[in-house]
Amino acid sequence: MENSLYLKNVVTLKLNEDKCTGCGMCLDVCPHEVFKMNGKHVTIQNRDACMECGACSKNCLVDAIFVQSGVGCAAAVINSMLGRSDGACCCGSEPAGATTDKRGGCCT
Ligand code: SF4
Ligand code: SF4
Repeated sequence: MENSLYLKNVVTLKLNEDKCTGCGMCLDVCPHEVFKMNGKHVTIQNRDACMECGACSKNCLVDAIFVQSGVGCAAAVINSMLGRSDGACCCGSEPAGATTDKRGGCCT
């Protein structure tokens, strides 16, 4: 599982680096080494390895991490590709100030 990658560019994971205190809890609980410590806070080093389990978000005491665990954007993209219209998307819900990468959400 160490090198597992899922669908590219559809992961809902967001990190607000300004909120991060650098406690390292997300590094400990993430099964796919998605985060890395960068000075006094973490950064996302491997977004596409995230399996949206939610462990990081549940264990971050300062709510610096958002992820739609379970059925999220990946399901929405798959449903869209299959021509289904019932693929709920989570792109509109993330914490204020969340760091987004250049790609933005999956629906933009
Ligand atoms: S658990 Fe939250 S506060 Fe701790 S290092 Fe991770 S993002 Fe930062
Ligand atoms: S949701 Fe799970 S796999 Fe994704 S970054 Fe958080 S702990 Fe790692």
